[in-house]
Order: sequence, then structure tokens, then C-alpha cells
Amino acid sequence: MGAIAQDMWLKNLIGGIWQRAQTDSALPVPNPATGERLAEVPLSSAADVDAAVRSAREAFERWREVPVTERARVMFRWRELLVSRAEELARLITTENGKTLEDARAEVWRGIEVVEFAAGMPTLMQGFVTPQVSRGIDMELVRYPVGVVAGITPFNFPMMVPMWMMPLAIAAGNSFVLKPSERTPLSAVRLVELAMEAGVPEGVLNLVHGGKETVDALLTHPGVDAVSFVGSQPAAEHVFRTAAACGKRVQALAGAKNHHIVLPDANFEGAVHAIRNSGFGSAGQRCMACSVVVAVGSVADSLVEALREAGDKMRIGNGLEEGTELGPLIRAEHRAKVMEKIEQGLAEGAVLVRDGRDAVRRLPQGFFLGPTILDRVTPEMTVAREELFAPVLSVIRAGSLEEAIGVVNRSRFGNSAVIYTESGAAARQFRETVQAGMLGINVGVPVPTAFYPFSGWKDSFYGDLHANGRDAVEFYTRKKMVTSRWFGGDR
Ligand code: NAD
Repeated sequence: MGAIAQDMWLKNLIGGIWQRAQTDSALPVPNPATGERLAEVPLSSAADVDAAVRSAREAFERWREVPVTERARVMFRWRELLVSRAEELARLITTENGKTLEDARAEVWRGIEVVEFAAGMPTLMQGFVTPQVSRGIDMELVRYPVGVVAGITPFNFPMMVPMWMMPLAIAAGNSFVLKPSERTPLSAVRLVELAMEAGVPEGVLNLVHGGKETVDALLTHPGVDAVSFVGSQPAAEHVFRTAAACGKRVQALAGAKNHHIVLPDANFEGAVHAIRNSGFGSAGQRCMACSVVVAVGSVADSLVEALREAGDKMRIGNGLEEGTELGPLIRAEHRAKVMEKIEQGLAEGAVLVRDGRDAVRRLPQGFFLGPTILDRVTPEMTVAREELFAPVLSVIRAGSLEEAIGVVNRSRFGNSAVIYTESGAAARQFRETVQAGMLGINVGVPVPTAFYPFSGWKDSFYGDLHANGRDAVEFYTRKKMVTSRWFGGDR
């Protein structure tokens, strides 16, 4: 952090050298809890992107030749450095993102888990062989890295999402150019510094700060082979279309609108606790956050009341203070948009059960919004359809499980869906018929761990192969099929 204090302009890492971006444009990076300016993030130019991609291309030619066991050892060292700096990283995440320290600590560990998974690359990259596929003929599948990978990441997980990409891509033998969120660029800088300290060679990992123009330069650069993107739906669709049109391999993870169905037979306290944490935790700024509660039958009134009480008890404040349960939103502009949507919901007929907007007046120094609950929402309303990315719950009342699943399936998004029930039959019906890629059964934030794919559906994902798990190994490698015969070796 010392370097940042001396020079508020963040630097790009290109070819192992931290250097000023070739631009005069920059954006301030405030601490969202206090408004304090932490840094200035340059909006790097196409020339910066070109330099980073060239450096990555050159480094790739050497890195691909490094034995996979040595690449794995770099992951072990990176893991040890991350573990030893876990608290520093968590505090950095909270400072630039606003989430509570508890959430930030959990995020650091989710990131470390990907490095642990990536350290298994000697096994993960294994191909396979079928001897004697025909008389005297063997067939084998061999995996190779893809080349230069660009990673473009969102503000809401400043460490975890870059870590979904960098360790797996690099351990598989690719080189990498990271374009972190311009709203939370500091954690990425630290991650990359630690990667270099762990022994990732110069040029294998590059970091270019910036915004849309920087991204577009990466998407269209002929030296980039693959693009991993995580962010909002419109940006994901743009990234997918642009990069695919330029002949690149793309995975683009997008926005969400996650529904939680509560059946009358659910464990009531368990469901309320899980929905509170999922809907209001991290200020609702998780792509797995509960946004719509679908209350089935008789449970609705008591559920709405219990959620209101749970919201009343939440301690709002600076995430760096232990005991804080709800931090700020990322920017004042984002909060203003959310407040407009709340007004729109009310104008469309929703009933305001809990108003979190009082936090704006009570905590004027940061971008706070308290837990907000809208009842009597219908699936057509804007608050039920659009991602709000805030601690706002909309409650839709349904008469049956079938009707509730119908409500979920009408959403254009399909990242996650959750059911609270004690009935195995209901849970099974939910699993079989709901159209979403990550399901929770009595689990409020059903995030798959690093060794499974993060598998959103519908407009929550563009591409074929998801982040993490074996999907990521497939995405960051390409295959050769070898068919061989040795004359005289027939049997
Ligand atoms: P965002 O789309 O504003 O930004 C994400 C990245 O894309 C940033 O690096 C940004 O610079 C870049 N970007 C933004 N607009 C662009 C454009 N028009 N063209 C090219 N690049 C662009 O997203 P955000 O607000 O930082 O993050 C929150 C969003 O990310 C939410 O919608 C959330 O649901 C989503 N998200 C999804 C997942 C998932 O796994 N599906 C995970 C985390 C976050």
C-alpha cells in the first residue's frame, strides 16, 4: 500500500515491470464506507493493452515449455503467500469494496481454494489413451495450453473472481492479462504482486487497469486467444459477441436474479436466517444473492414479518469494524439507481415493509442502504425482473410449489435458485424442473467450490464451458488427438 500512497495513480504490470499507463484519463477509487480517496485508476489505452498482450505472447512461448510439475510448484508457493497475507488481503477487500471483514475473509479463502485446485494441474491436464482402437492403431488425447488469456473481472469479488481465472489458466501453461474492475483494482494489484513473488515469470501475468475501452482493446486484439469475463449481463453479452466474432474462445458469466422458494413445511428459523444472509449479506452485491422470495401458501405473512425483524437487527456500518453485518453499496450512483427502482416498485403496486433508505441520512459519509423489503410483488414488476444488486428483497406470494417454480422459470436469468423445505419429494421436484444452474436446498448461497463449475444458465451465462472445476481445465486447454501405428508393432 506504500507505493499507492506515494503515487495515487495505479500502475500497470507489463512484462514484469510496473509502469504508468499511456493515458491522461483516470477515475478515483473511493472507500465506499467513508468516501476517502484510495487511489486513481488509469483508463489504459489500446497501446497499453497491445504492450501487455505482446509481453504475454512472448512469455507464453517459454512458459508452455516449463514442466507442469514446476508450474504446479509455483501454485504451492503462491498459496502459501496468500495464506500468510490472508488478513491483509481481507482488509484490502473491505477497504475498497465495503463488504464486512467476515465476508472478505471468506472471499480470500474461496480464492485460495482455486490455487489449491490449480496445484493439481499435473493430474487435471492428463489426457487419455485407447490402445488398439483398430488393429495395431492407438489413439491418444493430449492437452496443451490455449495461449494468451484475458481476464475481465467485476467489483463485487475483487479477489475471488480474478482467482477463478489466473491460477487455473497459468498452471495450465497459458499466459494472462488481467483487467480488474476499475472500481476495486487494489486487491488485484496485491494478488499479482504475490504471484510474482511466488515465481510466476515476467510476462506470464500482466495487469492492465481500465474500463470499457481497455476491455474492447483486449476483445479485438489478435494476440488474445481466450477471454474469461465475469460481470453484468449487458457487458457479458457484449464481451461474448465481440470476442467470439474475433474468433476467440469466450466464457462470460453474467448477472442474476435469484429466487428463494419457501414452502410451509420449511424449517422456519433456518430459512429466515439463510434468506437474511443471502439477501442482505455483502449488501446484496453477490451474483448468488437472494433477490426474490417466493413464499408459498400460509408461510407468507409470518415470513415477511420475520425478515423485517431480521433486517431491523442488522448492524450497518464500516465493514472494517468487527461486528458490522451490512456494509455500503459500491458507489453513490449505484445506490441512486437502486433507490429509483424501489420507487418504481412502489409505483407499480409493491408494498414497502421495510425501508432501508433511512441509512442514507443516518450514515451520510458512505454509500449505505439498509435492508429493504417489498411485499406483494408480482413477476411483471421491474423489481421482480431486473437485477438490483442491493440489499432489497421482493416477496412474491404463490399458491403452490408448481406456481412458485413457474415464477422462477419466467426469469430471464438462471444463475441460482433455492428451496426451503423438509420434503424430499418437493426438493426433488424443484431440482428436476427449475431452470437455473446452481441450486440450494436449505442453503442460501449455494456457491460451488473450486473443483466444481460455477454453472449459471440462461442470461446469467454466455458460452459453453463455465469457470472453475473441470470446465475451467477444458477452457484453458486445447486438445490434440493423435492416431498412431508402428509398422511391425501390430498384434
Ligand atoms: P460490470 O459489468 O459493470 O463490470 C465488469 C467488468 O466489465 C469490469 O472490469 C468493467 O470494466 C467491464 N465492463 C463494464 N461495462 C463494460 C462494457 N460495456 N464493455 C466492456 N467491458 C465492460 O459489472 P460489475 O458491476 O463490476 O459487477 C457486478 C455484476 O457482475 C452483477 O451483474 C453480478 O451479477 C455480476 N457477477 C456475476 C457473477 C457470475 O458468476 N455470474 C459473479 C460476480 C458478479
